[in-house]
Amino acid sequence: MPGMDRKKVLFIDRDGVIVKERQVDTYESIEYIPHVFEALREISKRTDFSLVMVSNQDGVGTRSFTYEGFSGPAERIFSTLRGEGIVFDDINIDLSFPEDGLSTRKPGTGMIDRYRELPYDMESSFMIGDRLTDMMLASSMGCRGFLLDSSLTVPDELKSTVALQTSSWLDIAAYLVDDGSLCHRTAEIRRRTNETDIILSIDLDGTGEGCFETGIGFFDHMLSQIVRHSRFDINGRCKGDTFVDEHHSAEDTALVLGEAVRKALGDKRGIERYGYEIVMMDDVVATVALDFSGRPELMWDVDFTMEYIGDFPSELIRHFFRSFTSASLCNISVSATKGGNSHHTAEAVFKAFARAMRKAVRRIPGDTRVVSTKGIL
Ligand SMILES: [Mg+2]
Repeated sequence: MPGMDRKKVLFIDRDGVIVKERQVDTYESIEYIPHVFEALREISKRTDFSLVMVSNQDGVGTRSFTYEGFSGPAERIFSTLRGEGIVFDDINIDLSFPEDGLSTRKPGTGMIDRYRELPYDMESSFMIGDRLTDMMLASSMGCRGFLLDSSLTVPDELKSTVALQTSSWLDIAAYLVDDGSLCHRTAEIRRRTNETDIILSIDLDGTGEGCFETGIGFFDHMLSQIVRHSRFDINGRCKGDTFVDEHHSAEDTALVLGEAVRKALGDKRGIERYGYEIVMMDDVVATVALDFSGRPELMWDVDFTMEYIGDFPSELIRHFFRSFTSASLCNISVSATKGGNSHHTAEAVFKAFARAMRKAVRRIPGDTRVVSTKGIL
C-alpha cells in the first residue's frame, strides 16, 4: 500500500531467552538470562522494532502448574522489563500440549499469523529463540532468526533463516543496532612449549563462569578467584611439568592469561583503563591498582609468612603477577598488610586484582575513544 509505513517486528520467546528455561511458577524461580536487559534496552532505544512475545507454556492450568502460579511471576517479568524501558506491544502465550496438535504451538504460526499482513514487514523482522522450533517458526513467517544457543546444530534447511547463532544477547543487540562495541570481547589462546601445554578461552563480558585447571590445588583456587571476581568467563587448562616444580605452570598460565586479556581488549576503545580495589580478608587488607597502559610494570609490597601455601611456593605469586604484566602490557601495584595468614594474603590479593580488572575493562556506554591523549594504548 503506497505511503504506508512498514513495521518491523522482533518476535521473542520467553523461556530460555528472557528467563532461564524451567517451570516459572514462583517468584523465586525467575532467573534472567545474562545481559537481556542491557540488550533489549539498547534495541528498544535505538531501533523501531515492535516487540512481540511468542511463548509456549505447557501445562498451565494443571494441578502441578496452576494459572495463579504462572500469572504472578509472568506479570513480574513484564513489569521488571517495563521498568527498564522494555515494553512488549503484544504478548502471545499458548497453553496447549504437543498432543493437542494446535497451530498455535510452535513451530505453528497460529499465534502470530496476523503479522504476515501489511503493515508488517516480515522480511525485515526477526525471531529470537533458543530452540530450532523457534527458527522453524521464523522460516514459516518469512522472517529471520537469532538462535540463542551456540551449542545447537542448525540443519541445512534452516541455515538461511538463522541470521546469527550465539549464546549472548549482546551479540544480538550489536547486530540489530549495528554497533560492534556491544559485542563480547573474547579471545582464545593455545600455547605449547616443552614445559607446558595451555589452552584458554576468555570472555571479558561474561558473568564469572568457568574454571582454569592446572592440577596445582592452591593455584587453581586462586585462579578461580580471578574468574569469579573479575566476572570474566574463563575456561582453560594447563598441563605442565609439575614433576620438575610449579614454576613453569604458574609463569606460563600468567603469560597466557595476560595475552588473552590483551587480545580480548583489542584497541581498548571506550574502556575505563584504570581499576583499583581494596579487599579485606580476615586479618589482611590487600590493595591493587592497575592501568592497561600498554606498558608492563609491577610494584609489589606483599610478604608471606609461609614459604609454601599448600604445595604452592608463595614466591611464585609475585612471579605470576610479573608474568601477567609483561604479557598483558599492564601496570599493576599490589600491596597487602603484613603478618597475616599467608592463605588470606594471597586470596585477598587475587580477589583485589580480579575486581580491579573488572573495573578497568568496563566499557563507558557510547564512548568509542581511547582514554589517552596519545590516542593509543
Ligand atoms: Mg524457549
